[in-house]
Amino acid sequence: MTFGSITPLQDGFGRKVTYLRLSLTDRCDFRCTYCMSEKMEFMPRSEILSLEECLLVAQTFVSLGVDKIRLTGGEPLVRKDMPWLAARLRELPGLRELVLTSNGSQLSQFAAPLAQAGVDRINISLDSLDPENFHRITRTGNLPQVLAGIDAAIAALGARRIKLNTVLMRGINQHELFGLVRFAQARGVDISFIEQMPLGETGLHIADSFCSNQELLAELRQQFELIPSVESSGGPAYYWRMAGYDTRIGFISPHTQNFCASCNRMRVTARGELYPCLGNEGRVDLLPAARAGDAAGLRECIMQAVAIKPQSHQFDPSQTQPAVVRFMSQTGG
Ligand code: SAM
Ligand code: SF4
Repeated sequence: MTFGSITPLQDGFGRKVTYLRLSLTDRCDFRCTYCMSEKMEFMPRSEILSLEECLLVAQTFVSLGVDKIRLTGGEPLVRKDMPWLAARLRELPGLRELVLTSNGSQLSQFAAPLAQAGVDRINISLDSLDPENFHRITRTGNLPQVLAGIDAAIAALGARRIKLNTVLMRGINQHELFGLVRFAQARGVDISFIEQMPLGETGLHIADSFCSNQELLAELRQQFELIPSVESSGGPAYYWRMAGYDTRIGFISPHTQNFCASCNRMRVTARGELYPCLGNEGRVDLLPAARAGDAAGLRECIMQAVAIKPQSHQFDPSQTQPAVVRFMSQTGG
């Protein structure tokens, strides 16, 4: 099947790739315990794709039928000129949706320019509403600054275009489940719970802290009337509606509700590595073609990566070793 002159990317398991997660940096102003180790080494800036190279990579994906791009990181807003990139991406014919994932720390400053650049939706990570616990989890984060960022994003884009992302962990922030849901409810934004994944040597033992989304859903259903929803945001979340409220609760459950069969995503790191799967090591290097401005070479590399997209990730929360050696902040969440 073709879309106009575009032949959609299709892998060996019949899945169409329509969604690119493009990481703009592996750097971040936070050091979340489940995402990074305390002492992270970051890639030299000379090895990171320039924003012009990111644009070429994105353009090439869109020319191959990708219609949704998420800008992520690390923290994408540590690249101060990223609204420029957002505005260029928004002009790409064929791009249906441009979205962003951020830790919120810089959104007071950036929410309005991002809305002006045409960003459609923003996911903001929020793991705690207790300033001390927030600081413990993020190691460097300042909760009031992030809450101000969330409010700025709601003011700039509207509550229905903002979603909170939370990783709940046993013994760390599981007790904040209801507080976080009520916070989302009060602001009319959605909230998704992401099951912790074993990525990189963070020093946190997932077997101790892993908390399944089935458990969270059961807890929530004791207090809230939740209605299963068939709505999808084109990502891996399964949603429930809260009776009488705009807020939806999403569950991203790589362990307990495997979504690989419908995976439509590929990820490009800030160094230009194209990973067809978050939970496997297979990759294709886009950097040489991107640096040479070689769109035909990039197309070739993208086709190669689609051909090696594996059927499923290799996550197992009971394992003591990470499933893959790279951190989530390196691949792009
Ligand atoms: N810095 C931005 C942020 O925190 O939203 C964007 C990048 S971050 C890597 C993207 C998402 O990945 C965040 O929602 C974060 O909570 C999630 N994440 C990071 N490490 C994870 C892990 N080991 N398991 C599950 N989710 C993780
Ligand atoms: Fe930074 Fe996001 Fe990773 Fe936290 S989850 S360390 S904010 S990249």
